[in-house]
Amino acid sequence: MSELEGVPRQIFLAGQWRDSADGSRFPVQDPGNEQRLCEVSDAQDADIREAIDAAIGAQEAWAATAPRDRGEILRRAWQLMTDRTDDIARLMTLEMGKSLEESRAEAAYAAEFFRWFSEEAVRINGRYGRNPAGSGRTLVTRRPVGPCLLITPWNFPLAMGTRKIGPAIAAGCTMIVKPAQLTPLSMLNLAAILREAGLPDGVLSVLPTTSASRVSGPVLADPRIRKVSFTGSTEVGRKLVELCAPNLQRMSMELGGNAPFLVFPDADLDRTVAGAVTAKMRNNGESCVAANRFHVHSSVADEFVRRLAEEMSGMKVGHGTEDGVRVGPLISAEQRDKVSELVEDALNRGAQAVVGAKALPGKGFFYAPTVLTEVPPDARILREEVFGPVAPVTTFDTEDEAVRLADDTEFGLVAYLFTRDLDRAVRVGERLSTGMVGINTGLVSNAAAPFGGIKASGFGREGGDEGIDEYLDVKYLALSVT
Ligand code: NAD
Repeated sequence: MSELEGVPRQIFLAGQWRDSADGSRFPVQDPGNEQRLCEVSDAQDADIREAIDAAIGAQEAWAATAPRDRGEILRRAWQLMTDRTDDIARLMTLEMGKSLEESRAEAAYAAEFFRWFSEEAVRINGRYGRNPAGSGRTLVTRRPVGPCLLITPWNFPLAMGTRKIGPAIAAGCTMIVKPAQLTPLSMLNLAAILREAGLPDGVLSVLPTTSASRVSGPVLADPRIRKVSFTGSTEVGRKLVELCAPNLQRMSMELGGNAPFLVFPDADLDRTVAGAVTAKMRNNGESCVAANRFHVHSSVADEFVRRLAEEMSGMKVGHGTEDGVRVGPLISAEQRDKVSELVEDALNRGAQAVVGAKALPGKGFFYAPTVLTEVPPDARILREEVFGPVAPVTTFDTEDEAVRLADDTEFGLVAYLFTRDLDRAVRVGERLSTGMVGINTGLVSNAAAPFGGIKASGFGREGGDEGIDEYLDVKYLALSVT
């Protein structure tokens, strides 16, 4: 328990730490050994009502603050996160499972959104021009959308929060954050950092809870809440879109993925295998941008599979805090069982396991890094997000076939392609039906770039110049000039 000393476990309500209205709490577990880490307050209806009132009450004054002041708060929070990377990483590893190296990388990535948006806060621009008849002027400006509901998943407990909270603060919006039930501690710790950085009371509330709909129902039923930004599954995203219909709140939906990874015959195989390991194994494979399926030109498939299997089977699996561990546990028994089920389904349909293909015994939800070949087109693993360390490989012979296979999915978040032919890279990159394409890289996430998808992967962008637009309404003033 001493590992959690100083980590808040209560609700953060309008700048104050509080027990929930009825004092109830829920346990948080370490997925690497199945031990209980601590208990956290479970937000109740009365807490949620208070958080709504706080967000609405603070909105006007917060929107009127100087953009530079909002930027400075974010900058201070970035500095605090940077100074405390090791503590933040350890906490994340304990509640989520990923290796310390991965957690440090997420802590740095998460902090970077605060630095990026600290710089964007002072660049919220408009325009001024003559109308076509010359008789008037057009003044275009931007204003904060208003109080927001921000909902985050367990797989990146911090970064999925900062890429919403950063632009919301920069734009001048107040917010209620609902972290995932499995990983509330990183977000509560972040609230403490933001408070220390000078965020005024009422701008942010964090409501951990065992009932997500207890939050989303009443919050989105209030027409004064003007936006929801959600990262999570497509299934829950659809429900939230319905909840927003009556009040027509603005929405950003960062939903599921099914990323194809294309290897062309002229690819540099050293780079490709390194990129494949990154795209597949980052975050234990529990990432919406994880390469979900590998489509490899038949002339290089054997070599690619041999090298990928060698790399993946050499990765040390274990509790994320142990030295040298690169693959931690999956988040839960359900998640591990879903990975097993998808692998079994592929094997039953004729796929071959090159390495792995088994859950690991003992405490903790471990699954061995796995490479599958000869995966038939009807295997579920090619259609569903596996969210685990499994690489199914299939082959293609022509560029058109590669694009057809890549796009044969309801999702459209990211695709990866590896080739040394620049024409092909641009041609295929432009054709693919995804919001993002990694060209000769297995990592597209970057605070300075617009992250997001199309089709069943949702809409809206996080990061980049576009990230702050999600929290701003355009307003136009018509001026008559005589
Ligand atoms: P999830 O949809 O089950 O949960 C996400 C969040 O939504 C959690 O905080 C959960 O408590 C909450 N939630 C669940 N039901 C809700 C409801 N009715 N109302 C309000 N909130 C509700 O997803 P998950 O299992 O936590 O995360 C994995 C999913 O997230 C994967 O599909 C993954 O692809 C996706 N994801 C997407 C991105 C992206 O940027 N596109 C990034 C990370 C994860």
